[in-house]
Amino acid sequence: MKDYPFLTMRLWQQHKDPALLDEYLRLLKRRRGACDEVWFATDYGFPPVDAHRQFAAQMATAAEKVRAAGFVASMQISNTLGHGSYLKYLDFRGITWQRMAGPDGRVSPYSNCPRDPAFHDYLREILRAYAAWKPASVWIDDDLRMMNHHPVDHGCFCPRCLAEFATGAGRVWPREELVEAINAGNNITLRRAWLAFGRQSLGRLAGIIARAVKTVAPAARLGFQHCDNSWAGYNGPDWKPVFDELARVSGQPVGSRPGGGFYTDHAPRGMIDKAFFIGQQNSRLPACVDDSRAEVENLPGAVTGKSAQGTVLESTLALAYGCNGLTFTPLMFTHEEAAWHDRVLAKIAAWRPFWLRYLEASRDTGPAGLELALSRQQAERPLKPGEHPFAWGSAQFQSAPQLTTLGLPLCWGSEHAAAVLLHPTAADGLSEKELRSLLRRGVVTDGETLRRLQDRGLGRLLPVEAQPATDLDLLERFTDDPLNGPYAGRSVTLTGLFGGFRPCILTARTAAGRALSRYESAEGTAGGMCVGVAETAAGGRWAVFGNTFWDPVVTTARRAQILAAADWVSRGRLPVLVETPGQVVAVPRTDRQGRLRSVLLLNCSLDRTPAIELRLRRPAGPRYSWLLPERQRPVPVKSVHVVRKTEAHVVVPPLKPWSVGVLLIEGSTSPKHDGRG
Ligand SMILES: [Zn+2]
Repeated sequence: MKDYPFLTMRLWQQHKDPALLDEYLRLLKRRRGACDEVWFATDYGFPPVDAHRQFAAQMATAAEKVRAAGFVASMQISNTLGHGSYLKYLDFRGITWQRMAGPDGRVSPYSNCPRDPAFHDYLREILRAYAAWKPASVWIDDDLRMMNHHPVDHGCFCPRCLAEFATGAGRVWPREELVEAINAGNNITLRRAWLAFGRQSLGRLAGIIARAVKTVAPAARLGFQHCDNSWAGYNGPDWKPVFDELARVSGQPVGSRPGGGFYTDHAPRGMIDKAFFIGQQNSRLPACVDDSRAEVENLPGAVTGKSAQGTVLESTLALAYGCNGLTFTPLMFTHEEAAWHDRVLAKIAAWRPFWLRYLEASRDTGPAGLELALSRQQAERPLKPGEHPFAWGSAQFQSAPQLTTLGLPLCWGSEHAAAVLLHPTAADGLSEKELRSLLRRGVVTDGETLRRLQDRGLGRLLPVEAQPATDLDLLERFTDDPLNGPYAGRSVTLTGLFGGFRPCILTARTAAGRALSRYESAEGTAGGMCVGVAETAAGGRWAVFGNTFWDPVVTTARRAQILAAADWVSRGRLPVLVETPGQVVAVPRTDRQGRLRSVLLLNCSLDRTPAIELRLRRPAGPRYSWLLPERQRPVPVKSVHVVRKTEAHVVVPPLKPWSVGVLLIEGSTSPKHDGRG
């Protein structure tokens, strides 16, 4: 772990009002454990340069106060291309250049063409003013992206961009023709070139920003705040052009701040989705990034929005999914009472030792489990008839991340993965070559995925065939296959109630295929296969669920069946199996040798859990301890049964509603805890 600030608090307008800044510094000094670094925010909107100069001078004075109070002073560049119309009440009078143009030619009043030199000059001028006080680090906000600049959803199709694109594309494409060709026309070569052109626009802008900052603040470290690539596929599969340019110009490693959404915790399971996609962002960082600090966003910073408990739980999940620091936003919003801010800060300060101990124990490890498949070429999939233009730019995984609430550990990337989870939306983006590589691995998937692959003419490769189920009076009966264990003969009724995709009847293409459940009519007549497992000719193992697989509301028997199937395709290498049924998320972390070093458990229900029994694979050491937030030190776990060298059964204490605990698995000597991030 690098010697960077661990916890960051972002401010907004405080530098403009010395009394307000003093009030917020008093809050921070009172809860010192909640904050190591303060981010000032450059002005949102695009006011005239002179306004920025005035704010920059105020910020320089404020930064002195922050440093004198013992905090690191850094800065975020609040907007580059512009966030969109939701900030339209701000000052945009500074924009004198080409604004961002959409595919229909519509121009956004609030966003900029990334290639206009007058805009570049403006950025250089204001950044030289802002960075003159030498912030420790400077972070570009997440509006540095080619999409989501409402009212322009996809940019930039202005005359300048089209003209500059012509060089690479061989000719000037009239806007309407270009839009048609990369969408319904499915000219994938042209689309790929257009996406690369957009990435080049972002990279160049990052270079301009980096040079301007480094001119006046040579030691400042640069960072980039970004959105998840499955949703933001219009920007390509990762943010490498931006990170690499920041690193190249600065000659330093670069910071990352992944995030997006989950502003309140009114639907608390949204924190699981957010953390999981932060994991996706972390899995695609280029080598120049040495710091990834999660966005914990409390917009609009109100007592009725996100609870203090929700804030720290979200933070914990982000650390589990690969972040090494946290950036908080509640103090941006000065419209709330000091008492509320103090409650949130007190909670964060109280959880700090727990987070540091967890990070220390998880050093040089990564989240493990089933890897959710997502091709790097996902945005190159052909558009299907009836789909909206640009639909290829966003992969829709819907409730898939919620399968982790069954205790099924999920992750991104193959480095720590035991097997693959293949969703229909990812199947749309797989090349034949990528599919062939999945046939050599363990895969858990559903009937809809197989149907989409079959529709593409790839069915001949698959170990199982799926056809639409004709009998909608669906009841499912578990077979006596060993994978069903004690649940042989169990039924599942009303299986169509929560189904997002059409149910399918499966047929194994090889004699080695086995049915784990069959459809049954209301009269009790056995029908076709609903859940099946099969080995592939390439040596892989696939498990296919024909009906309602992606819904996380399942019976004890189905839950056990899903976990058993996932473990079977993994050849017994799933790092943790939560044996106790319930609503518990498990995030195991394994080292490069595949040894299990920690398991984070989140009770994502309103009930207290019973004691939780875990089956662990390849535990890293003989010492098992249970770490809870707001406790001094981990407690040794008493109930440990070592089955063999590669497997142990452990029982950890019950978890309160919406709470976390971490099982630490360590060697004979305890890792040093130096008390910082
Ligand atoms: Zn443009």
